[in-house]
Amino acid sequence: MKNPAKQRTQAVTCPCGKPYAYTQCCGRYVDQGEAAATAEHLMRSRYTAYTLDRENYLLDTWHPDTRPTSLQLTNPPQTHWLGLTVKRHTQTDADHATVEFIARYKINGRAYRLHEISRFVREQGIWFYVDGDILEN
Ligand SMILES: [Zn+2]
Repeated sequence: MKNPAKQRTQAVTCPCGKPYAYTQCCGRYVDQGEAAATAEHLMRSRYTAYTLDRENYLLDTWHPDTRPTSLQLTNPPQTHWLGLTVKRHTQTDADHATVEFIARYKINGRAYRLHEISRFVREQGIWFYVDGDILEN
């Protein structure tokens, strides 16, 4: 074991890609109902919720104006999420922010990447996902 510190870091990685255990990272929001301090925290926790098929969390954190009635995450074909890269978090004012990210996933063995700029709004101290623009690469 040449580099035990590195191995330990790899062993505890949240699905969002942060080098923390799930319970110390996105689990605080997804499972414990803690309010995300920033839009980026919310965005990461929503990606993690997709990887865990946590539809209720995704709907709860979606702004009521744009929220779909259901996501049917468990319907085939299954999406296998591979990883998240947050490119940019921009706070446009106290209660509005955008997060640019790339999410990689596979459907039926074929790899895709989603490059999106998501919009977030904060109401009564709670961040919500509003909608996003998908960027073609
Ligand atoms: Zn996380």
